[in-house]
This record gives sequence, structure tokens and C-alpha cells, in this order.
Amino acid sequence: MPSCIVCHLNIDENTDSLFKCNNDHPVHKYCLAEWLMHSQNCPLCSDPYPQNVINQFKDYMEKKEQEKQAALDKELQKESMKKMEEVAGKAVFLKFIEYIEQIIEEEKYNEAIDKLLDSYDESSVDDRNLNILFLLGKANYLKGRFDLTISFLFKLVKIKFDYPEGFLYLGKAYEKLGLKDKAQWAYDRIKEGK
Ligand SMILES: [Zn+2]
Ligand SMILES: [Zn+2]
Repeated sequence: MPSCIVCHLNIDENTDSLFKCNNDHPVHKYCLAEWLMHSQNCPLCSDPYPQNVINQFKDYMEKKEQEKQAALDKELQKESMKKMEEVAGKAVFLKFIEYIEQIIEEEKYNEAIDKLLDSYDESSVDDRNLNILFLLGKANYLKGRFDLTISFLFKLVKIKFDYPEGFLYLGKAYEKLGLKDKAQWAYDRIKEGK
């Protein structure tokens, strides 16, 4: 019984379809189908397979190629969807921040704080959440809740030490509470960050 040059298993000539290169190297039909995706030469002697052999696999190879392309397209689509969602999410967030800054400007501190707390995610440390923490600190400072300012901004600088504006309001809040040493400590961190 001949053995296949690709998988080395026997080829049962009664039940398996068998192909040969010009030098009579036997190979299973399904093994050759896979092999032809990589090369059109015999894996053993490197002789090109006759065109009439290759032609019999054309449909199979085209189908495989299409499947590969379809999988690739799907991957690309997924990728671009993800990017679009990211961009959209960022735009929505920037709008939100813009709005919050505006109502802080209008001295609607409680409204700003409520909305910020709704969006605040205790478990997240991404830039958005840091931005929210900063604005929570700032709004509370302007509202005169210096203890809360310190609590929010401490959370912020614990996550991101290099946040000069955070240290600025932290220092101001300490100053308001008469804690001069701590205020100085916070102000010194601003210079370090720069
Ligand atoms: Zn085989
Ligand atoms: Zn061969």
C-alpha cells in the first residue's frame, strides 16, 4: 500500500482518491488540496504538479481563498466598528465635560456634582474617570466643601501623581482649612509634575 508523502499514512487505493506528481510520489486528495494552498510543487521532489492536477483543485482553492478573505473582512469590520464606537464615545464624553464646565461656570455646583457622581465609576482608572474626579474636586472647592475637595483630589493624585491642576485645588483646599504645611506640600507637587 503506498503511503502519502504529506501525512505519511497509508493510501487505500480502493477508497481514497490518490494523486501523484510526475515522479510518482503518492499523496491523498485531501492532503494535496491543503498542500496546494501553500505550493504547487510536490513536497518531496519539488517538481511542479501538472496543470491538469491543479485544475481539479481550483474550485477548492478559490473557496478557501474566499473564506480567508471573508474572515479578514469580518475582522477589519469589527476593528473599524470598535474605532468608530471609541470616537463616538470620546465625543459624547467631551460634550459632557464641556457641559459640566459650563454649569460650574454658572455656579450650579450641586447640579454639576450630581451629574459627575452619576458618571463616576469607582473601579475605573481611565482618563475619563480622572477628569471626573478632578471636576468633582473643583466643583466642591467652589461650593466651599473643602473636605470633599480633598477626598476626591486625593483619590485622583493617588491614581495619577502627575496632575498639576489636581494638586493646585488640593493645595487651595488645604489652605482654606488652615493646613498650611499640607497646602505647601501640594503646591510643591505641582512644580515636580512640570
Ligand atoms: Zn495524506
Ligand atoms: Zn514528487
